[in-house]
Amino acid sequence: MTVDVVVLENIVKEYSLGTHKVRALNGINLTVSLGEYLALAGPSGSGKSTLLNLMGCIDSPSEGRVLVDGELVSDKSPDQLADLRGRTIGFIFQTFNLLPVLSAAENVEYPLLNHKDVGKRERRERARYYLKVVGLEQFVDRRPAELSGGQRQRVAIARALAVHPKIVLADEPTANLDHKTGNGILTLMKALNKEYNTTFIFSTHDPKVIEMADRVVRISDGQLVE
Ligand code: ADP
Ligand code: MG
Repeated sequence: MTVDVVVLENIVKEYSLGTHKVRALNGINLTVSLGEYLALAGPSGSGKSTLLNLMGCIDSPSEGRVLVDGELVSDKSPDQLADLRGRTIGFIFQTFNLLPVLSAAENVEYPLLNHKDVGKRERRERARYYLKVVGLEQFVDRRPAELSGGQRQRVAIARALAVHPKIVLADEPTANLDHKTGNGILTLMKALNKEYNTTFIFSTHDPKVIEMADRVVRISDGQLVE
């Protein structure tokens, strides 16, 4: 059975810039199924981050409908939206976005603080488990500044997975890493995709990264091409 975890219908997104408007997305239709490993490929400024932010329910479209895990995002109150996001989505960012004063383990635990059904012991265990999964069991007590770029991104992957999301959204996750390290991150994400059937949607403009995807969606000037 296929389950559509993200459905975008006729999406338009405009940003106001002073007196004029910038149309960042112009009529996007896209369906993503559970367990896909999908690259969103396009040059800088094509609308990748805008699209990922809409899928992640951290921004709303000017026109069109966004369904996440079968739920219509625009129908939700802010609290319901935070809940849907927390239960369903993990984020990985280009700049890792770890909290500098927290250890690797504390960073992974952090999003779980909002999960009332996950107690302290379970939180600890999940942090250790996923840091082990990404090969960082030796580094649980290190702060981000004491880790390499690739290690920081692996902490971010562990943090995204610890909430048991159906979807992981990764905005240019390898852009700040050298090729070899970036490749390792993509290989790891792919293994996790297969192991847990977690949907991965990652943006990139790197041809080497695009090659590793099971499905590629190309975006140009706010429209999907082909
Ligand atoms: P990408 O991630 O592919 O580089 P973005 O989604 O960031 O592209 O941007 C798409 C377009 O929207 C660009 O023209 C960008 O300048 C514009 N844009 C993005 N965010 C904003 C914003 N907050 N205000 C105004 N324009 C924006
Ligand atoms: Mg971007």
